[in-house]
Amino acid sequence: MAAVKSDIEIARAASKKPIQEIGAKLGIPSEHLLPYGHDKAKISAEFISSVQNNEDGKLILVTAINPTPAGEGKTTTTVGLGDGLNRIGKKAMVCLREPSLGPCFGVKGGAAGGGYAQIVPMEDINLHFTGDFHAITSAHNLLSAMIDNHIYWGNALEIDTRRVAWRRVMDMNDRALRQIVCSLGGVTNGFPREAGFDITVASEVMAILCLASDLKDLERRLGDIIIGYRRDKSAVYARDIKADGAMAVLLKDAMAPNLVQTLENNPAFVHGGPFANIAHGCNSVVATTTALKLADYVVTEAGFGADLGAEKFFDIKCRKAGLKPAAAVIVATIRAIKMNGGVKKDDLGAENVAAVKKGCANLGRHIENVKQFGVPAVVAINHFISDTDAEIEAVKAYVRSMGAEAIVCMHWAKGSEGTVELAERVVALAESGSAQFSPLYADEMPLFEKINTIVRRVYRGSEAIADKAVRDQLHQWEQAGYGNLPVCMAKTQYSFSTDPNLRGAPVDHVVPVREVRLAAGAGFIVAICGEIMTMPGLPKQPSSEKIFLNDAGYIEGLF
Ligand code: ADP
Ligand code: MG
Repeated sequence: MAAVKSDIEIARAASKKPIQEIGAKLGIPSEHLLPYGHDKAKISAEFISSVQNNEDGKLILVTAINPTPAGEGKTTTTVGLGDGLNRIGKKAMVCLREPSLGPCFGVKGGAAGGGYAQIVPMEDINLHFTGDFHAITSAHNLLSAMIDNHIYWGNALEIDTRRVAWRRVMDMNDRALRQIVCSLGGVTNGFPREAGFDITVASEVMAILCLASDLKDLERRLGDIIIGYRRDKSAVYARDIKADGAMAVLLKDAMAPNLVQTLENNPAFVHGGPFANIAHGCNSVVATTTALKLADYVVTEAGFGADLGAEKFFDIKCRKAGLKPAAAVIVATIRAIKMNGGVKKDDLGAENVAAVKKGCANLGRHIENVKQFGVPAVVAINHFISDTDAEIEAVKAYVRSMGAEAIVCMHWAKGSEGTVELAERVVALAESGSAQFSPLYADEMPLFEKINTIVRRVYRGSEAIADKAVRDQLHQWEQAGYGNLPVCMAKTQYSFSTDPNLRGAPVDHVVPVREVRLAAGAGFIVAICGEIMTMPGLPKQPSSEKIFLNDAGYIEGLF
């Protein structure tokens, strides 16, 4: 058997078209493409406003079952389906998140798809790309600097230095910066206080950029950020220290979607990348709404499994942006189904039909859940070389018994040739008009009841519990006018429960809400259920040890 080519080898061998040709496929005149080199471009704001009266295409969500630590191939399947739709003659494009640079050097690697279903230039997309994350980091840290500067010059707003809520960010996995003491070194350096760093994708500025409808909305939301509290616990906003204008200036170019191409030269927007735990985990609203004006089918991905990613995509992004998804694809792999059936990671290579049958309960739960939102779903079995026919047949039979269909997809090995059947099925579902999307809960529902609704109807737990302090906090926010916000759940991606080891389809578990946070600018309440890391660390042998430039000057070791 020929050696399997690495993602970066395949990406480097791609025959890319000039970005103007890719733009032309979407009807974007070259004067409205702002090229970054030959194969990346931003789309002008004027062009985006000029297409607002176009009819919307159909929005297809790609989500997944509860994953293995490596991911189940949602990005890969999003790209593969986009190419498959183009192959069967549809005008389709994909919308993806921008990968965070930090995890590229850890265990996770990049996030530009894999095998023959990738977006290119993968090295650029995974590293500095068009500088959006740099802009977000700068805007975030400008606000941090202005806060400490305000305190230094007399603190006219009377910010309680023990209650500064705004931290600093950088796009690197660096656990040493999680908790720091800043302003050390004497009178000229300000007032020492505890502070810390998060990774850039966890910044509220990232979530804001991804939910804002335009530059005006962006600036308003930036002003709404709560930077800290006074002794009397009243909130101080970014607007109060006049940071919103300059932050918006730093973000002006970052608000424009980035156009790149798939290996098969089909268009892709790659824009914004909020965390999928303390934020909503999908690409920008601007990219998605613009794509819908330009293509007949827009395929997009939500982070983690459907319990977290799809729920937030529906209840936060679609609710806020008025999007109406026409169909969903639930990605499953035989290995993740086996893990949900109790198989350990090291034993995934061996055929185990019994474990597959057991693990299907997890898939079944996600099929039911997606249907609860009124969105018809099809299952894509992302095929791995190790899958056996008997295992695949077991999944197909199970999904049939759930009233849905599972389709084997070989896009990783074959590109669009491997997703023709999926693409045809997705078109049939989307055109059937059977979608009747509605979010899970109404805006008016009290905040804790929203959390409970998600716990009962999506996680199938018995209830959410929280200390009085947490519930009092939610009441206070309701009094202050934040009661109509959606809830962003932050819990483990590996289980419907808060215990990452409880796989499959657990029922009647209790979901403890440890802490709640108000992201007033982004416009959601974060409910933290379990350990959530907002600044990752690197593993003992980070992948950065194997990344280098070869003699020809090309990057090696990125995956
Ligand atoms: P997700 O978006 O669900 O996190 P990705 O699409 O990024 O997952 O894929 C995770 C990793 O798995 C990538 O490195 C990708 O190359 C690899 N991968 C995806 N599908 C396959 C497949 N069918 N066979 C082998 N490797 C795959
Ligand atoms: Mg992904």
